[in-house]
Amino acid sequence: MSLDIDKIRADFPALHQTVNGRPLVYLDNGATTHKPQAMIDALVNFYSLDNSNVHRGAHALSDRATEKFEAARQTLAEFINAPESRSVIWTRGSTESINLVAYSWGRQNLSKGDRVLVSMLEHHSNIVPWQLVAQEVGAEVVPIPITDEGIIDLQAYEALLDDRVKMVAFAHVSNALGVIHPVQKMVEMAHRVGAKVLVDGAQGAGHFLADVQQLGCDFYTFSGHKLFGPTGIGALYGKAELLEAMPPWLGGGEMIESVSFAGTTFNKLPFKFEAGTPNIADAIALAASIHYLNGLDKQALIDHEAQLLAYAEEKAKAFEGMRVLGVSHEKVCVLSFVLDGVHSADLGMLLDQQGIAVRTGNHCAQPAMEALGVDGSVRASFSFYNTLSEVDRLFEALEKAREFLI
Ligand code: PMP
Repeated sequence: MSLDIDKIRADFPALHQTVNGRPLVYLDNGATTHKPQAMIDALVNFYSLDNSNVHRGAHALSDRATEKFEAARQTLAEFINAPESRSVIWTRGSTESINLVAYSWGRQNLSKGDRVLVSMLEHHSNIVPWQLVAQEVGAEVVPIPITDEGIIDLQAYEALLDDRVKMVAFAHVSNALGVIHPVQKMVEMAHRVGAKVLVDGAQGAGHFLADVQQLGCDFYTFSGHKLFGPTGIGALYGKAELLEAMPPWLGGGEMIESVSFAGTTFNKLPFKFEAGTPNIADAIALAASIHYLNGLDKQALIDHEAQLLAYAEEKAKAFEGMRVLGVSHEKVCVLSFVLDGVHSADLGMLLDQQGIAVRTGNHCAQPAMEALGVDGSVRASFSFYNTLSEVDRLFEALEKAREFLI
């Protein structure tokens, strides 16, 4: 089935602007996606009509805000196929979700001699929180090697799995390369030695890959702003029995059942992990983005992205001196590449001058870049609202940039 991309693009106001005199070609969706008008309207409506605090008011506006806020949690739970909405904790995004698990679960369950495995491809936010907690408790963070093709080396992973390993943390999709990891298989392998698994879904959710029951992971994290929603909102999914057993990591209002100087008791899930006034408006607006996505033909979006990737990779093969990082199969629509003799930052600047937005550098994944023997790359990351003619624009602009630089 073919998509009406023009109609979809009309729903995203930020796509329709010129940059440096050229129509914008936005290929930085891995950093953040643009927002549908429905999400922007939901934000404006909340502050214009429903603005109130949740869970505590004795008035109509507070009831309305609470109802919409909790309905948003349910929408999100259904989107990732969580078995129950109390398993979905609102956070500021993937970074905060990983920190929540590292501090709450990690401090309770990790001790001297234990190991946390993280892949070499991880974003810094799925390395550093584990290092901080490991330092505190005397555990060790051990990298899972990757192959030259930029995929996790499953044999090396298997060899690392023993009873010292208590947690395995890796991204669903590598932000630096777009490669999709074999999550189900890696989860099964980790569970065999009794380790828990956290999947960083920051780059998975926006490509419709997040089905936590199918993946079988213990924790799944993501950021709303990479899912066509606002910044500053995201979520942690955790298996309810694990979240139940974990201590709170932030204290304050909302997360308590009763407070006294003799001792404080904590609220039930999910509120135990949501201290203070939550990000109500952005949670509701994220749900509006998901409702918008639910109204589109998801399989058609996935097929369209696959078509964009195939077209971009074909062009990349024909482009002299271009080395694409990562395998060409099992990936989302990302082209992460280096050009012989050209620094990625220079290339990024010349693309920007032609109205093309990409990301350059190490993509907050320094160990991954080191393992692949490069100091950075240009990353063109696509979404379903990108077009084949935008792929053409990218390669025309690259040709011009190369003429200028070499
Ligand atoms: N993990 C991955 C794979 C990412 O791509 C990102 C964002 N670039 C993050 C974690 C962190 O997400 P955020 O900054 O939204 O918390």
